[in-house]
Amino acid sequence: MDDRIRYDVIGTPTAKNYNFITAVKTTGIFCLPSCTARKPNYENVEFFSTTKQAIRSGYRSCLICNPISHASYSDGMRNALKQINKNPTLNISELIDSYKITLKELDNWFITHHKLSLDIYLQATRTLKDFKKLRSNNIDEVVTTVFYNSNDKKEDCTLNMISTHLGKMYVAVDDSGVVLCEFIDRSKIYNQFKYLTSNRNYNFKIGKHVLINQVKRQLNEYFNGERKQFSVPLSLNGSTFQNKVWNKLRELPYGYTTSYKDQSIRLGDIKAIRAIASANGQNMIAILIPCHRIIGSDGSLTGYAGGLDRKKWLINHEKSNCGMAYQGTLSLK
Ligand SMILES: [Zn+2]
Repeated sequence: MDDRIRYDVIGTPTAKNYNFITAVKTTGIFCLPSCTARKPNYENVEFFSTTKQAIRSGYRSCLICNPISHASYSDGMRNALKQINKNPTLNISELIDSYKITLKELDNWFITHHKLSLDIYLQATRTLKDFKKLRSNNIDEVVTTVFYNSNDKKEDCTLNMISTHLGKMYVAVDDSGVVLCEFIDRSKIYNQFKYLTSNRNYNFKIGKHVLINQVKRQLNEYFNGERKQFSVPLSLNGSTFQNKVWNKLRELPYGYTTSYKDQSIRLGDIKAIRAIASANGQNMIAILIPCHRIIGSDGSLTGYAGGLDRKKWLINHEKSNCGMAYQGTLSLK
């Protein structure tokens, strides 16, 4: 269906028969075509076929037409979803108690209807809300939230959102390098911002920065299959152990995969395999620190905070672009 035809459907009596998603660039909100809110201008609209795509592209669910819950089947569920969209930082266990649904039901509902987990939905929605406030320069509103640290010792961190082939990403940099580079719907993204503001004393400010441009350009080249190594400097903010694990990951060449076990041998401590796996999962600089190159010893994908579909894509992308040099897994056996 053509975008122009989709646009004409918005707000008409037959709109409820269509299930595409309308997202408005100026407000950062996504709607059903039957939404009763004022019809946006054509040039400000972006269309998606699934809610998942809209969420990954940086949009939040509209409070009027409630596209995230249009497929819901019980009043309890519908009301719970309404509350979540109004306030994504609310206490989920209290919420499910008052609407007599279980966490499992709620999580399953998200997976069935939106192909993403409740956790991922919450993480993305929480950070997006604050990101929008920051963009409007409304620092007062953000002071008590995740992006802003009220401590005296502060270091500024420039934050922005970039578009990539696999969805929108947050990129944050300080003057020495990249602090964070993550898909906006990455699991635990909210906690990462929280960690960087409260444990590392960063204050995030939306803005432009030469390093953000560099990340954007290099990622673009990477996604086009033209870049195999990143030269943009990184500013690692983990513990000594985490930084060591992350630096080791950076030595893994493009197109190769390896296992947690082999990675722990490389780090000189096979017994630390669990700690190493956990540090991998806490990587804050996706793709540039290639934690996607770690897979199970049996070749299974295991986990990826950015979603297994993305991990699979990244591994296949590198395999098909690395040419003759590709030798499969880096095994120490
Ligand atoms: Zn709407």
